[in-house]
Formats: sequence, structure tokens, C-alpha cells
Amino acid sequence: MMQTQNIDPQEVSKFESMASRWWDKNSEFKPLHDLNPLRLTYIVQHSGGLHGKKVLDVGCGGGILSESLALADAQVTAIDMGKANLDIARLHLLESGVTVDYQHISAEALAAQKPACYDVVTCMEMLEHVPDPAAIIQACARLLVPGGKVFFSTLNRNLKSYALAILGAEYLLGLLPKGTHEYQKFIRPSEMDAMLRASGLSLLDISGVDYQPFTGHCQTSTDVSVNYMLCAQKDSLTE
Ligand code: SAH
Repeated sequence: MMQTQNIDPQEVSKFESMASRWWDKNSEFKPLHDLNPLRLTYIVQHSGGLHGKKVLDVGCGGGILSESLALADAQVTAIDMGKANLDIARLHLLESGVTVDYQHISAEALAAQKPACYDVVTCMEMLEHVPDPAAIIQACARLLVPGGKVFFSTLNRNLKSYALAILGAEYLLGLLPKGTHEYQKFIRPSEMDAMLRASGLSLLDISGVDYQPFTGHCQTSTDVSVNYMLCAQKDSLTE
């Protein structure tokens, strides 16, 4: 893998080493399965419905979100830099009968090939795993049609998110493998807003995500101190 690309090879191989378990709801991917209906509802609501829309899912992993976007009637392309993740995602289509176009390409490379092509771009739980999140945000902005909507989710960076997402989830409760997250890569909403604006995107909504790991229950809230997701719109005059 080229060093010049905006990819942390260790991060990608970490996900690939778990790839066979993407669709196992009792595996380390349980939180993503638990959160999926909530984030899908959020995306559908803030995009004004997905019916017939061209949607790109960036950092799709095994396709948990990608398939649900397709089931909500979107025309979905989904990309990831981990080949093993895409193998599992494609295999799962045979079981589910859903249609998703999975491609092994970076967001930056796809943005050069297909600028202004997608009505909606989603990039969930991925920005905290890349060396340069601003470059991913910029690529997502380029991929959108003017007025298109982009959705990101990530972890805030403060003492509470460190305590819950790293000490709690990885070390005390063992809900996630140790080393899943790096504190320095967490992103404050203010930093996110600055990166969005630098890419010609305007924040429309930011919501906290409360997650109870034992019951699997989750809901949106105004508390963005740990997990949060957001919707931003591409300004009409940017290219
Ligand atoms: N978005 C999915 C998976 C999140 S896990 C979901 O929420 O269900 C993070 C994923 O990002 C992994 O599959 C990993 O391989 C991928 N990833 C990490 N760095 C990447 C990069 N630079 N480009 C594309 N995908 C990347």
C-alpha cells in the first residue's frame, strides 16, 4: 500500500483481520449492528428520503450500513480500502439478495473520477481511523452534487469519551478489542465544523448518540460529548 495515500495500513488490516465476523451480531461489530437502525433513520430523515437517490458509502466495511441504505431504495455504491471487508460484503449480498456496487478505491481517487455524482454520501465510524480526516471530508464534498448531503459519525475528544470509549469499552468491559480506537484521532465538533466549512459544506444538524452496550438500546440526544453524527450540505456554488 502506498505511503503517500491517506490510509493507515495497520488500521485497515485490523478490520480485515476481523472481517469474517462483520455480520455476526454477537461479535465486536455488535455496536455497529445495534446503532444501524438509528443512523439509517437519521440519514433517511435528514436527506428527505433515499428513494432512487445515488448514495455513496465511504469506509463501508462489511456493508452493514450500505445494505440498509439499499433496502431504503437508494442506488448504493460503497467503497473501502480493505479487500477482505469487501469480499465479505459481496458474499453477504448473495445471502440477502440486496444490490450494492462495492469497489476497492479511495474516496480521493473516486472524487477525481466522479466529481458531483452522488446525492448523498455517508461516512460513518471511519474518520477516526484515517491519518488525514480533512482530506476525506474534502473528497466527500467533491463527490456530492451541489446541494447534496453528507453524513459523518465519529467520537468526540475529551476526558469522558476517553473514559467511556477506550477505558470502558476496550479495557474494562472488553466490548471492543484493545487498540480499536486511538484517542488522538477523535474529533471535536468544533474541529469537524472547521473542516466542513473548509470543504464548502454547511452543518445542518449535529446529534449525540447515546448507546447502552448491555441492552443495545440507542437514541439520539443533544449530548455530543461521546458519540455523535452529523448532516452537512454542499453549498450550491462550490464545484
Ligand atoms: N462504515 C462502516 C464500517 C466502519 S469501520 C459502518 O459504520 O458500519 C471503519 C472502516 O473504515 C473499516 O472497514 C476500514 O477498512 C475502513 N477504512 C479505514 N481507513 C480507510 C480509508 N482511508 N479509506 C477507506 N476505508 C477505510
